[in-house]
Amino acid sequence: MGLLSLGTPLPWDQAKLLAREVRQHGIEQFLHIWRNMKDRQKDNLLWGDEIEYILISLDHKNRRARLSQRGHELLSLLQVEENERLTNPGRPGEKPELEALWRPEFGRYMIEGTPGHPYNSTVDELVNVEANMKRRREIVAENMTEDEIIVSIGSYPELGSADFLDPPHKPNGQFLRSLFLPDEVVNPHPRFRTLAANIRERRGAKVAINMPIFHDANTPNPFVDPTIPYERNLFPEDSEAKKGAALPDHIYMDAMGFGMGCCCLQITLQAPNVDQARRMYDQFATVGAVIMSLSASSPIFRGYLADVDCRWNVISAAVDDRTPEERGLWPLAKDRFVIPKSRYGTIDTFLGSSDGHFRPEYNDLPLAYDKDIYQHLADSGIDDLMAKHVSHLFIRDPLVIFEELLDQDDSVSADHFENIQSTNWQNVRFKPPPPNSPIGWRVEFRPLEVQVTDFENAAFSVFTVLLARAMLAFNDINMYIPVTKMDINMQRAHSRDAVLNEKFYFRRNILGDNKLPESESKPESQLTSDSEEDVVEMSANEIVNGSLEFVGLIPVVQMYLDSIALDDAVRSKIDVYIAFISGRANGSIMTAAAWMRNFVRSHPAYKFDSVVSPEINYDLVIVLDEMARGKRLVPEMVGTGGSSV
Ligand code: ADP
Ligand code: MG
Ligand code: MG
Repeated sequence: MGLLSLGTPLPWDQAKLLAREVRQHGIEQFLHIWRNMKDRQKDNLLWGDEIEYILISLDHKNRRARLSQRGHELLSLLQVEENERLTNPGRPGEKPELEALWRPEFGRYMIEGTPGHPYNSTVDELVNVEANMKRRREIVAENMTEDEIIVSIGSYPELGSADFLDPPHKPNGQFLRSLFLPDEVVNPHPRFRTLAANIRERRGAKVAINMPIFHDANTPNPFVDPTIPYERNLFPEDSEAKKGAALPDHIYMDAMGFGMGCCCLQITLQAPNVDQARRMYDQFATVGAVIMSLSASSPIFRGYLADVDCRWNVISAAVDDRTPEERGLWPLAKDRFVIPKSRYGTIDTFLGSSDGHFRPEYNDLPLAYDKDIYQHLADSGIDDLMAKHVSHLFIRDPLVIFEELLDQDDSVSADHFENIQSTNWQNVRFKPPPPNSPIGWRVEFRPLEVQVTDFENAAFSVFTVLLARAMLAFNDINMYIPVTKMDINMQRAHSRDAVLNEKFYFRRNILGDNKLPESESKPESQLTSDSEEDVVEMSANEIVNGSLEFVGLIPVVQMYLDSIALDDAVRSKIDVYIAFISGRANGSIMTAAAWMRNFVRSHPAYKFDSVVSPEINYDLVIVLDEMARGKRLVPEMVGTGGSSV
């Protein structure tokens, strides 16, 4: 989450009247950026990670762990130095660089940390990542009280259960109207609660999130959740649960906070130019699902074990603002488009690039896009694929409009563009340079679940960066599969133990004709379309580690590492991270999701009824905190590399 606008956000009935205006200006802003920045070259391969943490307060006497509302106050403390420098920057070089930057997130109990400045482009720099992540945890700890801890997992097990918040509040707030989550869990900045309320109002109902329950030996069959207050009659929306929004055999959640209250690990990478950014965007989109399955850390929701390991679908449903017409439930009358996916989801079109690997048949999803905007972009010289991408993003309404920020100079501001762009939450995000800044074209890799320890977070970050570097170094790398297959992969990646049991669509030969020197590559016109055998189904292990038939992502990364001069110490540290990723893929190292599920199922208080009681949760988060601080080694989940650093 970037810096927040200040001001008064408009309620939905007013904001919707301004949607068209915001879109029009947003497009002009994009065009300004495009014209000024499209020829930018040779930007450094800067990159950075974002890690989200949750603040928990422990009640040792009663063996309870609760989400702490103090997260917001803690964040203010963490930001003091950065804010001071905004008003008093000093002379260049006068003050040491900040080690970390801190940002708010949707949950009041959440904190997001990034490195103080992006990492540089050298491979040597990769060995500093873990130390910076550790330092971030220490900085937060310096500001915590004795009974507070921070943990980093995809979903907090008790979010929305009976007694999960410190201090407690009743779930009776106007903004969320949730049966489970009080408005007080939402970050107090007005942007967040308006976002939640406007999504609900735009949709015409509360969001309905249903994750399949993990059926254990004593789980009722069918499972009908006894903790849902079906008969509450506080808001008109209360009846939705009874009328079918809450599905049997599922864990039902009814508010944006259940999704945006989850935590993730995101990585933003700068490309040398716009063309390489487009390449990176497309390749990362297809590889995302399999890497997400390795990172799974969300097996419990609202106090129940789920039959999934990842958070992605929860967030997707949690911000699904589509009206019934847009969801295809009613014929189009008032709305303009039938829209197949939530604003939070996998991408719908590839961007293509000059590498010649893209083929039109990969964009095989019927695309909703704004024809007028498309035409305007095309008339302004934007190519077809980029114009489709932007005019597709712009089918969405701006959800939060600040009255004070409506009037902008489109040649110097990107606020309206960012308004739409930053609420299209996709598995990869194509980030144009901000106007008047030294920042170049970037791609954000967004599917990863956050990891419990800094070693694991560093390993996933380093692996992602190396994959990007390999893509840039080897122009022949081609990981395209059709968008619809990418969507199937993302769903499969969710399922319990996907890394062990699922198959994913992938290209059989991602190095293509790479034995040919560049000059002998076939021109695009001579290339034939994919045949059936070009895209095959493989396990995560085969895709990541390789097999007799498939080269494997890790061997590709190693080819890249072998091709550059590297200090031995650097290489051996990187090899430890790669060994960890390899272990996750071949099943010798468990995901956090699998480990947590086991922890619950082997806890003496567990009754094999899918219920994760507050007592089990207390014991669990204490162990997670000990792992993160290196006080407890769990090689079955972290491997042995984590202990050596
Ligand atoms: P978001 O769009 O998710 O709010 P930000 O723009 O705040 O993200 O930045 C997220 C990450 O991008 C951080 O890790 C930061 O270090 C990194 N970052 C900042 N500048 C650059 C850059 N020029 N190139 C690549 N990464 C960058
Ligand atoms: Mg981000
Ligand atoms: Mg974030």
